[in-house]
Amino acid sequence: MKLLFATQNEHKAAEIRALLPTGFELLSLNDIQFTQDIPETAETLEGNALLKAVAIFEHTGIPCFADDSGLEVAFLNGKPGVHSARFAGPDKNDRANSEKLLSLLEHTPHRDAQFRTVIAYVDGTEPRYFEGIVKGTILTDFKGDQGFGYDPIFQPFGWNKSFAEVSTAEKNSISHRSLAFKQFLEHLHAVNKI
Ligand code: IMP
Repeated sequence: MKLLFATQNEHKAAEIRALLPTGFELLSLNDIQFTQDIPETAETLEGNALLKAVAIFEHTGIPCFADDSGLEVAFLNGKPGVHSARFAGPDKNDRANSEKLLSLLEHTPHRDAQFRTVIAYVDGTEPRYFEGIVKGTILTDFKGDQGFGYDPIFQPFGWNKSFAEVSTAEKNSISHRSLAFKQFLEHLHAVNKI
């Protein structure tokens, strides 16, 4: 079965390829030479994942999934959420985003947060959604230099290391993205009986 991942990020595509059982062929947008930008204009992770998956399914006719992720901070009523990538401005600056978050939480002990990923899958029938969540706390300073985004200031509950202090494999063992992908894979197993 051919499956199209609506991403130009080959790192993400490789992660998923590693998880797919035999019988599936995973294509990314690079494989089909799709280079246009799909503006993420929705106000929810679900909405953005869906609009990317629908745009690519309509363009290709190949069953397609897309993901969207964000960091949701309880004290900020779920912000930055869908705006995580550009929290500090239009430039997608990871360091500035984290610094802005640290300053907003400077005077509060309430530091609970979660990373959440939503995958939308579109195959011509009713769209389906799969979710992965990892809960933790926002640290008071940067710790570690691996990973990306808010990894250096996010520490999962039960860990004494931030996401930026562990290997990719260790992060993926509990990450929001891998949990969502596993849900999605379970669905594919169920409907294709593979
Ligand atoms: P995307 O939808 O996966 O591109 O994620 C949007 C934004 O959320 C990223 O630019 C990061 O700022 C943040 N983010 C998502 N996943 C992670 C993660 O695993 N670690 C750190 N930041 C993340």
